[in-house]
Amino acid sequence: MLDDRDRIFTNIYGQGDRTLAGAQARGDWDGTAAILARGRDTIVAEMKASNLRGRGGAGFPTGLKWSFMPKTSDGRPHYLTINGDESEPGTCKDREIMRHEPHKLIESALFASFAMGAHTAYLYIRGEYFAEAVALQRAVDEAYDAGLIGRNACGSGWDFDFHIHRGAGAYICGEETAMLESLEGKKGLPRMKPPFPAAMGLYGCPTTVNNVETIAVASTILRRGAAWFAGIGRPNNAGTKLFVVGGHVNRPCVVEDAMSTPMREIIDRHAGGVRGGWDNLLAVIPGGCSVPILPKSVCDTVLMDYDALRNERSGLGTAAMIVMDQSTDVVQAIARFARFFKHESCGQCTPCREGTGWMMRVMDRMVQGRAELEEIDMLEQVTRQVEGHTICALGDAAAWPIQGLIRHFRPVMEERIAAYRAAHPAAKLAATPTNLPVAAE
Ligand code: SF4
Repeated sequence: MLDDRDRIFTNIYGQGDRTLAGAQARGDWDGTAAILARGRDTIVAEMKASNLRGRGGAGFPTGLKWSFMPKTSDGRPHYLTINGDESEPGTCKDREIMRHEPHKLIESALFASFAMGAHTAYLYIRGEYFAEAVALQRAVDEAYDAGLIGRNACGSGWDFDFHIHRGAGAYICGEETAMLESLEGKKGLPRMKPPFPAAMGLYGCPTTVNNVETIAVASTILRRGAAWFAGIGRPNNAGTKLFVVGGHVNRPCVVEDAMSTPMREIIDRHAGGVRGGWDNLLAVIPGGCSVPILPKSVCDTVLMDYDALRNERSGLGTAAMIVMDQSTDVVQAIARFARFFKHESCGQCTPCREGTGWMMRVMDRMVQGRAELEEIDMLEQVTRQVEGHTICALGDAAAWPIQGLIRHFRPVMEERIAAYRAAHPAAKLAATPTNLPVAAE
């Protein structure tokens, strides 16, 4: 359990003063110039030593990512872009930072930008987050007025501008290169990599893309030291983390706790437990809707961190737990996600464009049991043909929930097919995976 003294986000519920004065009273913007005076290399080294890994889903080491930026400019400006698109179903942690702890984010963005030689940061915020954008802009204006950002930020000699860009509500713009395209005013289509953003990102210039939470914790790490942060959680899974608990729990919440805390402890202590008690749990999707589902038997003991969840063939993702109790139609739940990914596919690559629609149509039939038993294996094979064969990770995200369903709930799918067959003995089921209506009995 996280000690209150180790909490980074002390106003995450917005119960305190959100203005600059309130943020300063909580320790933000304290000795900022002195931290900048440590120099760029020292800051990057400190972030590396903290073992912070990206909080947006991929879990890439943050300090290492910062170190990929060129040490000197070849004449092109450097950019920091902060991903506040947060469109992953079930995920609502970054919004709490943007609306309740905006100064922690802005100050951290100054440190990150300085460490990467960037004078400009763009925050790409999900279009639907209107109130959050307003709160954030108010904080940016306060910081400019107080001389904390802008020319000679905090008297450090470093010029730093912070811009907010509102998206238009496309899930794919949460993918880092689609976000860069969208920032440039184009359609949010993911780019082929390489080149990676650190070599050629926004406007063709060296760019680092970080998640809101990843950036926001930087100021506290630099104040309290890498060893403090690295000492929380298990090795390779360091620090505190914002967890989201939603679905069939008594008190859905966003809560900061130590990385590697048991899933059950987070659900029981912070979210009031599963509706109807722990034994009424069916399954949990641990990291937003794009990671594989885990059955109760795994949830009983699994830790919420990168390695533990990967060992269970799932992932930490955004650490947004979607809790499902025994009343859940798990096939229908995954079919709903399949529909979501089909809708959000940008259509650039064939496996994703065709595969997401195909998977959605088969999953819709699986919900009714209107399928042949062999189609379960066929569906699994198609997910393998989509996974890893696309430009961006949306293809993987569409494939993994279905793989998890088949891995852990295959008997449920088989029973449903058998029940449909028993109820419709003369029905001619789709021999090929199409969305054709059932032939008349
Ligand atoms: Fe677009 Fe899907 Fe390809 Fe990503 S994987 S680029 S969303 S078609």
